[in-house]
Amino acid sequence: MANSLGLKVLPVTTTSPEEEARVAAWIDTQEYREKNFARQALVVNPVHACQPLGAELCAHGFEGTLPFVHGSQGCASYYRSTLSRHFREPAPAVSDAMTEDGAVFGGQANLHEGLENAVALYKPKMLAIFTSCMPEVIGDDLTAFIRNARSKNLVPRDLPTPYANTPSFKGTHVTGYDNMLAAILQTLTEGKKVEGRCTGKLNFIPGFDANTGNYRDYKRIFEAFGIPATVLADISETFDSPNDGTYRLYPGGTSLVEAGDSVNGKATLTVGPHATAKTFAWIKEQYAGKHAALPMPMGIARTDEFLLKLSELFDRPVPDVLKAERGRAVDAMTDAQQYMHGKKFAVYGDPDQLLGYVSFLLEMGAVPWHVLCSRGSKKLEKELQALLDASAYGKGCQIWMNRDLWHLRSLVMTDPVDAVIGDTHGKFLARDARIPLFRFGFPVFDRVNKHRSPIIGYQGAINMLTEICNKFIDLKDDTCEERFFEMMR
Ligand code: SF4
Repeated sequence: MANSLGLKVLPVTTTSPEEEARVAAWIDTQEYREKNFARQALVVNPVHACQPLGAELCAHGFEGTLPFVHGSQGCASYYRSTLSRHFREPAPAVSDAMTEDGAVFGGQANLHEGLENAVALYKPKMLAIFTSCMPEVIGDDLTAFIRNARSKNLVPRDLPTPYANTPSFKGTHVTGYDNMLAAILQTLTEGKKVEGRCTGKLNFIPGFDANTGNYRDYKRIFEAFGIPATVLADISETFDSPNDGTYRLYPGGTSLVEAGDSVNGKATLTVGPHATAKTFAWIKEQYAGKHAALPMPMGIARTDEFLLKLSELFDRPVPDVLKAERGRAVDAMTDAQQYMHGKKFAVYGDPDQLLGYVSFLLEMGAVPWHVLCSRGSKKLEKELQALLDASAYGKGCQIWMNRDLWHLRSLVMTDPVDAVIGDTHGKFLARDARIPLFRFGFPVFDRVNKHRSPIIGYQGAINMLTEICNKFIDLKDDTCEERFFEMMR
């Protein structure tokens, strides 16, 4: 074998083509599946990112906020590039670039110099600080470091500096999101609670949701109800701002004043109960008004539940415009159900989204045959099982907790399905199994504008079923015999 310069390249191993073919066939077998599921100390292609990535997404959801990574430059590049590739937008964040000396002597010097530089260069309204693995492993004391920075006047007195420990060897990007959101709200609401005051607003918490279309749809629904709402944290402008020729470092985000006043809200509603468990537990202790946690409103039943809860919290009827939208969604599902009914799916993703996919598929008469979460709790497993048990289409479906995409590959090769729902990382197994992958999760690197197409609410149900059914129809057109190539499908 020669490279592009014509020089001979020696293979790293001397595996013969026959042996390669044998192993390639073997990894599709039941025998290999059993060995694959027996592995304990190795994860291959997990369905999650590390905590700080979620912390960064959360930080971007607040006005004028600069995400600040205490840790390695390379880690910060990973979070930024992942967010940039998904949204195709810049993800401005800074790092104090700890290296070997920081690992030996501690990262306080890096943090202090980084804070001074970040304030001088980028003039943020808030610095949201979180950690990569390195300072967590050596046990950097962020509380003391930031207190010392303040006592040395390295940051302006009135600049909020919420911080969260986001060790990547625990939890996922979803946990990091939760930790950062709790830290930001605790900082911004400090001393803002006023006895007897009520903003009259809804505090709305979407949880880790990287679909800007979802945020816009939530806001459209609140407008239809006439409910004033503060979205905590709102990334819709940050990662989907208009291209008008002017670069803005901090487009959009939840106003810091509004976020501070959210403690006096009329009601607080999270639709990411798994993604915001810590934040919501704290809110229930501290925030005025009513508190409610609902599943992400995907599909008809969950959207109904969401709208009825809004109606109850604000004592307003469900607007006619949303009732009509429900009717259109039901009509669209009825028109399309023949293309999805009985089709088997493998689904994977973050807990709140996963529950939404399963619920939506069951409503369509489809079968979520393999349901996989790479870091999920017993609570999630129970909720998934209850969903499956409540439907005839859930019979025989299996839940795979704390498994990765290499496990899922074995599953779809030995116990086939018609399609996969997840994020871009599943494209390899979908190609091997020769089945379509529907990219509704995070991240999506290899398709455009997926993050602009909502998957929540009635419109989200229409969007999902349209994409899925049309793909199945495409496949039929592409593969059917000539005599079955029809105008009507
Ligand atoms: S897992 Fe740790 S080392 Fe890897 S990118 Fe995340 S923070 Fe950095």
